[in-house]
Amino acid sequence: MHSLRTKLILAFLLVGLTGSVLVAVIVQRRTRLAFNDFILNREQQTLVNNLELYYQRNGDWDGLQVSLLTLLVSSSGPGDVRDFGRDWQGLTLAGADRVVLFSLRPEQVGKTLSSREIDRAVTLEVDGEVVGWLLLTPTVREWVAESAEGVFLRNVNIASLVSALVATLLALTLGSFLALTLTRSLRELTEATVEIAKGRFGKQVMVRSDDELGELATSFNQMSLDLERATQARRQMTADVAHDLRSPLSVLSGYAEALSDGKIAGSPEVYNILHQETVHLSRLVEDLRLLSLADAGELQLLIQSFSPQALLERTAARHAVAAEQHNISLSVSADQGLPNVNVDIERMSQVLDNLILNAFRYTPSGGEVRLISKTANGDVLLQVQDSGSGIISEDLPHIFDRFYRGDKARRGSEESGLGLAIAKSIVKAHGGEISAESSPGQGSVFTITLKNQT
Ligand code: ADP
Repeated sequence: MHSLRTKLILAFLLVGLTGSVLVAVIVQRRTRLAFNDFILNREQQTLVNNLELYYQRNGDWDGLQVSLLTLLVSSSGPGDVRDFGRDWQGLTLAGADRVVLFSLRPEQVGKTLSSREIDRAVTLEVDGEVVGWLLLTPTVREWVAESAEGVFLRNVNIASLVSALVATLLALTLGSFLALTLTRSLRELTEATVEIAKGRFGKQVMVRSDDELGELATSFNQMSLDLERATQARRQMTADVAHDLRSPLSVLSGYAEALSDGKIAGSPEVYNILHQETVHLSRLVEDLRLLSLADAGELQLLIQSFSPQALLERTAARHAVAAEQHNISLSVSADQGLPNVNVDIERMSQVLDNLILNAFRYTPSGGEVRLISKTANGDVLLQVQDSGSGIISEDLPHIFDRFYRGDKARRGSEESGLGLAIAKSIVKAHGGEISAESSPGQGSVFTITLKNQT
């Protein structure tokens, strides 16, 4: 298996090499062509000057055939005269009357140049008068290696090859460095993932950059911490469940044993205790079932459109007697024109019941519990406000956790610490949120936010 690092280095090498070779070849070709054009232009100009000079001296083109070769040689500079014919293919000279006087293609002599040929031709002028036309078809030449031009082009070739080599080496060095940096983070992440797979949660990796890899490392660290917390919570929950099941079970088994041994006689009080404990057990089991259904996203909701005011009034009516028994004033207040809410009435009543029972539990006689409904930013809020003991700030962030029971001094065996966790699961299943605010000694407000109901 080729490692990612090797693949990255090879990729950089390939890209660097291809890029530099391509650039070198293009530069070499373009330079050769541009250089060729430059030289030919210069030679053409010399040729034109020489021809014009010839005409000026002779007053006509007679005798040109003889002198032309000399002219050509002096305009092409040092080199083989035969090469010149190849460089200036189709070299043709016509007089002012456009009749061809001389041509490297002899069959052209005596013909008249067409207007298209005239368009391509260079005008020969003496004292501002057109004295002839010169037609040239320059070609790309092969420079003799020893000539100055050949040496120049060779130097250009060497320079572009050296640049290509340097660029490739640079790409390789940078590529290796980058590959090393990238793969180091990935290797650390892989090792940490193996640890997690072995069940050792909480493993953290170093965040080395703020790019995508850094983001991956940050998310990994968060996931690892979450997993550790979740595992810890699961362990704690198992211990709590075991503990909560043990108490009623030991009461039941104690009574059952005493009854079967004949140590106590059956009586309505004894049967009542046994009944209470089974009810307690059933409720605990039912709570746990509901929570696991909510965790699995399988909590079935029978959603109906319902007036929030009616929902609160129905709830208040159910608790009116208990409120009176506790000597607590229970009231409902709802804003005018509230939109209906889409809720499962039974489940939402269960949440409200739980909040009200808690409010009664923590509010002393003579206190007040208010059920309020209002809107905020298009959401409908249902609130349970009490004037009770309030919640200390250390407890507040945890009260929705499973089995969390605050204010340990006043904890009774009746409470399981699951009430608010269940309330939160039900509200979440509705796509809503539940939160609590409290100032110790002044009471608490629990708010259910039902999203986008307006
Ligand atoms: P419990 O079964 O203990 O009532 P809950 O999940 O319903 O469990 O509540 C968790 C904790 O939140 C309680 O133990 C209590 O400390 C705190 N709490 C809940 N409601 C109130 C309230 N209205 N006033 C003061 N404390 C409250």
